[in-house]
Amino acid sequence: MKIAIIGGGIAGLSAALALAGRGFEVEVFERHAAPTDIGAGIVCWPNASFVLQELGLLRSVAELSGRPARMRRVSRAGEELGALDIRKLDELMGYPSLSVLRKDLLSVLLSRVSEQGIRVQYGHVADRIEPSATGSATVHFASGATASADVILGAEGRMNSIARKFVHGDNRPRYQGFINWIGTFTSPRAVFSEIEVKDYWGVGARFGVVPVSDARAYWAGAAACPEIQGKAPADYHDELRALFRGWPSPIPQLIEETPAERINKIYVHDHDPIDTWHRDNVLLIGDAAHAALPTSGQGACQALEDAWHLADCLGGATSLGAAFTEFTQRRRGKNAAIVAGARNLARSLFATDPALCEERDRNSKSTDYEAMAHGMARGWGSGLPMSEDPAAA
Ligand SMILES: Cc1cc2nc3c(=O)[nH]c(=O)nc-3n(C[C@H](O)[C@H](O)[C@H](O)COP(=O)(O)OP(=O)(O)OC[C@H]3O[C@@H](n4cnc5c(N)ncnc54)[C@H](O)[C@@H]3O)c2cc1C
Repeated sequence: MKIAIIGGGIAGLSAALALAGRGFEVEVFERHAAPTDIGAGIVCWPNASFVLQELGLLRSVAELSGRPARMRRVSRAGEELGALDIRKLDELMGYPSLSVLRKDLLSVLLSRVSEQGIRVQYGHVADRIEPSATGSATVHFASGATASADVILGAEGRMNSIARKFVHGDNRPRYQGFINWIGTFTSPRAVFSEIEVKDYWGVGARFGVVPVSDARAYWAGAAACPEIQGKAPADYHDELRALFRGWPSPIPQLIEETPAERINKIYVHDHDPIDTWHRDNVLLIGDAAHAALPTSGQGACQALEDAWHLADCLGGATSLGAAFTEFTQRRRGKNAAIVAGARNLARSLFATDPALCEERDRNSKSTDYEAMAHGMARGWGSGLPMSEDPAAA
């Protein structure tokens, strides 16, 4: 069976590896002319580390990653609002949480793709999909080139997936009313005494810092913004200074010392969950199927999970239809819950009423973080052969 994958992001490359591992012939088509280093970073939570282990990549990713011990919430004034013990979560789920730059995760996936002899065709902008009466389908690219395959996977992300358009009719994402400025920071000297995720909460604004070593981190400054406006990279530093002036250390330092070319501004979109992820022999995976807001912390993790489940479903399938149905049934509920949870958190983080934000901060201080770790382990581990109780795994 020949499988064409549209999109060489985390979903496309991890699916290519998982499917090639089951003996399928796969080829990836990516719109960019070459691998890029765009993007900031990702926490591979234990559910993602499980998949990386299954792909034989956990050690290589861990070598490039930090191992965050805690996730601390801090108010804009520097007051502690509570902390999740990430080591406890790791222990419950049996795999490590790893903070990694997106470019480093992609480079590990790409080098294994190349070792496996999987072809990635760059400069291929998929334009439309055409079904055929014989059961295969053809992807048409903007260049005029075409690719026919028995299965087409739409892994082209959330913003303009032609596979989602083919399957669902409508591929427009939903703007959720906030902006993320994301950046990667590298210092010649140690800046972070501990590898821990810090999440600073203000009124209508939030700043997250995730170290990957004592001198490198990725960060995201975010603020409520009801309408989509322009983007001018020359203004990013001034926009961030205006929003985060007076916020706790090291936020001002991160903003000042991150070069403009390492900052990106994103008007953040997600998708309403849909019930059907496939039509004919075209299947959606990753953000094209179930884009959640970054407040989920699960975009890349769920893309990796898709790869593992898809290989499992296709590997043992009696028919393509049965495999696609099984895959969608396994993945739909978990991802719909993740989309909803991320929207709830975003509503509270980007609330602009100071009284609501004070109440949110009080709630955070009285949260039972031990119970939260158990809840996260149950939710994120669901559907995978990992357990909240390591003794039962
Ligand atoms: C540039 C970029 C930076 C990101 N940075 C972060 C980050 O810092 N932190 C974080 O948590 N998440 C980030 N994400 C999102 C995160 O990577 C995804 O939520 C998650 O990994 C799901 O991956 P995906 O492969 O489904 O989608 P994506 O990561 O969006 O990958 C989709 C891929 O498809 C390609 N593509 C799109 N349209 C076409 C087309 N028509 N034809 C061919 N190829 C196409 C894109 O170029 C891209 O390589 C980023 C995504 C992108 C694209």
